[in-house]
Amino acid sequence: MKNFMNKIKFDKKSIRWKTVGYMIIFSIIILAVLWILQFVFLNSFYTNMKKNDIDKIGKKIVAVFQSGFDSEKNQNVAQMAYDNNIRIVIMDTDGNLHLFDSFGDIDDMEGRNLNVTEEAVSKLKEAGTKDISYVIDESKMRKSNSGSSNNSGSSNNAGNGNNAGFSQIVYVSKLNTSYSNLEYLIVTSPLPPINSLIDVLSRQLIIITFILIGLSIVIALLFANIISKPIIKLTKIAKVLSSGDFSVTFPTDAGYSEINDLGNTLNHSTRELEKLDDYRKEFVANVSHDLKTPLTIIKMYAEMIGDEMGDNKEKRQIYTDRISKETDWLSSMVGELLEVSRLESGVTEMEFEKVNLSNILKEVVKSFQAMSELEGYIFENEIEENLYVNGNPTYLHRVMVNLIGNGVNYTGENKIIKIKLYSKENMARFEVEDSGKGISKESIGNIWDRYYKGDETHKRPVVGTGLGLSIVKQVLERHYAKYGVESEEGVGSKFWFELQKEL
Ligand code: ADP
Repeated sequence: MKNFMNKIKFDKKSIRWKTVGYMIIFSIIILAVLWILQFVFLNSFYTNMKKNDIDKIGKKIVAVFQSGFDSEKNQNVAQMAYDNNIRIVIMDTDGNLHLFDSFGDIDDMEGRNLNVTEEAVSKLKEAGTKDISYVIDESKMRKSNSGSSNNSGSSNNAGNGNNAGFSQIVYVSKLNTSYSNLEYLIVTSPLPPINSLIDVLSRQLIIITFILIGLSIVIALLFANIISKPIIKLTKIAKVLSSGDFSVTFPTDAGYSEINDLGNTLNHSTRELEKLDDYRKEFVANVSHDLKTPLTIIKMYAEMIGDEMGDNKEKRQIYTDRISKETDWLSSMVGELLEVSRLESGVTEMEFEKVNLSNILKEVVKSFQAMSELEGYIFENEIEENLYVNGNPTYLHRVMVNLIGNGVNYTGENKIIKIKLYSKENMARFEVEDSGKGISKESIGNIWDRYYKGDETHKRPVVGTGLGLSIVKQVLERHYAKYGVESEEGVGSKFWFELQKEL
């Protein structure tokens, strides 16, 4: 029961209630159109339709009469008149009226006062056209009836009963017959009011209104349920995901492309989140390991200095050097962590200026030179002089240090690192190439990710926090630089970037 109450709970922003709302608005618009058509236009539609009908029949009769009289044709016209509830009067050239009766005969109408007929002929003359049709409305008919005992309504050859007081449709046309003296054809037809019909229709419309609103609510609820079901399903899974369970998979077979797209996007985001979470866990483990190791070393040497061994000046010097080295490493590590978080949050302001990239690189190379002497690394440099770019010198220095540093860290036994800076069309291109173990195809897409470290088992000699390339990426993107890596396992890697040259 509670579940059911929950289901029909009124949340005016839900798809369910919005769909119901829209469907009701749609029904109301349809109903309004129906009501307007019924009450405002129905009468004029009806009158126009009837007028057109009589007009057509009138023209047909004129065509028959003009081609000459014969009893068969007359019978046909009489039948048409009967079927359509019309009366046919003909006026001859002397102004005498003749009634076309239901047997197809033309009767004399002498002595009958037919206002409608006479008025029709004078109207046609006034109009000066071949034929006209018009409507005489009910009130006028009543007046004309009270002035004459033999009126147009009561004497009808088609036997349409007592139509007195109805509006009349009149069609009048000039006949052009060479074989008789008949001059005008006047066709009249009663136009019974449709008030009772409107009354019936209105009652029907009230019922239709209720049915339509009821139906629209039912259809809207069904429709909304069908649409919201997969969304509710996605929401449920997203809730599981938000509790930290990355093993979830969102359905992508909902039957709606948009919802399937959403499912696919959420699946992709989940995988990314999962990856990031794995990196984060690994990073925390690595960082704690990296921080713990120097701290342990520092503690150990500090204790040794405190011991009697500290009295030995030479040994004390070795210990303090080691402590100082470990402290440097610690502070560079903490600095890098701060840097990456500053870059990522966008707090870091990067001022750009025209800088000599060749000189910056030469400085970087010089700082690595000491290493080449001490540890046997061989730097093969090819640096084009005076290549200027628009950039931030500090951060470009940092990028090259990180890339060359990686070259040093990951290069192989031959310890050769090739560094190049040269013009390539309107770009300045930097390259650093090592002959190390290379990067596998699976991990090459991930190395730029924050916290990503290729090494499964974290070894201290290959130093690094997994943040170096992430800093490189952030900085280069801020410089709108092109960058990338080409690598082959067992052969080595070449990291590069290109910046627009400044002249
Ligand atoms: P780290 O501090 O681990 O070097 P980086 O962000 O600089 O972090 O690099 C991320 C990962 O990319 C490294 O752990 C390593 O697996 C891989 N990598 C970076 N540079 C090289 C290289 N020159 N050769 C092989 N692998 C590399």
